Amino acid sequence: MALSEFDLIAKYFVACGAPRADVLLDVGDDCALLHPPPKSLLAMTTDTLVAGVHFAPGVDPESLGHKSLAVNLSDLAAMGAEPAWATLALTLPQAEESWLEAFSRGLCQLAKTHGVRLIGGDTTRGPMSITIQVAGFVSPERVMRRSGAHPGDLIYVTGTLGDAGLALLARRGRHLPMALRSGIRRRLDWPTPRIAAGKALAGIASAAIDISDGLVGDLGHILQASGVGASLFVDLLPLGEAVADYVAATDDWSLPLAAGDDYELCLTLSADHQEQVEAIAHTLDCRLTWVGLIERAKGLRCVLPDGKHFDRLPNSYDHFGAGS
Ligand code: ADP
Ligand code: MG
Repeated sequence: MALSEFDLIAKYFVACGAPRADVLLDVGDDCALLHPPPKSLLAMTTDTLVAGVHFAPGVDPESLGHKSLAVNLSDLAAMGAEPAWATLALTLPQAEESWLEAFSRGLCQLAKTHGVRLIGGDTTRGPMSITIQVAGFVSPERVMRRSGAHPGDLIYVTGTLGDAGLALLARRGRHLPMALRSGIRRRLDWPTPRIAAGKALAGIASAAIDISDGLVGDLGHILQASGVGASLFVDLLPLGEAVADYVAATDDWSLPLAAGDDYELCLTLSADHQEQVEAIAHTLDCRLTWVGLIERAKGLRCVLPDGKHFDRLPNSYDHFGAGS
């Protein structure tokens, strides 16, 4: 028998994620009731994943549950916030139990890992689309915005760049050595939100953003919001083995510079903090790499190993842009 809307919610989305003392009431009433901490800012963000745009309709539902939450947590990481609550608006063509079971497993497992509780949502029938909203806490002194970068600041990125973009190319038919395939695929389907890095660098970084649409475009947002420019040193970009091979074979830097979906952080910070940051880097479970400099002269210059600049920068993804 088909599952009713309420059975579906009760079966897959009640008690999802970590129990929290600041949640008086979660799924089941007209609203959730929450106790926000008195001295923190509440950081809130939402992201929608649409079938056929952000994921193929047949994608593994467990990874989709993970990724739908991960992309939201990545935005909290970029502000230096500690994740707390999530809501889920789920639109499905039909209530298929095996799909729901796997989707909720991926979602609720990542929620638990980060101490997040699913506190409510909405469930509707229609073309598949997943909207998650997350809320987190951050103190006003530590919060990182896009607008705080100053000339002279160093630019850092977490993790490695271009992996998810290469996984997309591989999915569309580009050959990859077998040994590199699964790691690359994981980076696209199971992104890791850099919550620990965001929290560790909040209060030190002058600006931050998460790299969802590619480094050039997302760093561009910091530059614009801060009224500054930058030089990026292309040979410093942190590359995993597969992307390094790709760049060596093709001399094409567009993956690490402009491919989306990596969900790493790009941060700027005063050179006075460099030693402190190198010490923090050792405590993180991802790389933290110096890749460039904030400068007074507006615009972004990508500097090649021979000192020459790219004359045409690859663009980042724009849902309403000419190329999409
Ligand atoms: P209402 O009609 O009052 O908006 P709903 O019938 O849509 O309430 O939802 C009933 C309860 O289940 C609410 O607490 C709502 O937050 C929760 N809920 C609905 N869909 C989901 C979902 N996909 N995930 C988590 N909670 C959900
Ligand atoms: Mg409703």
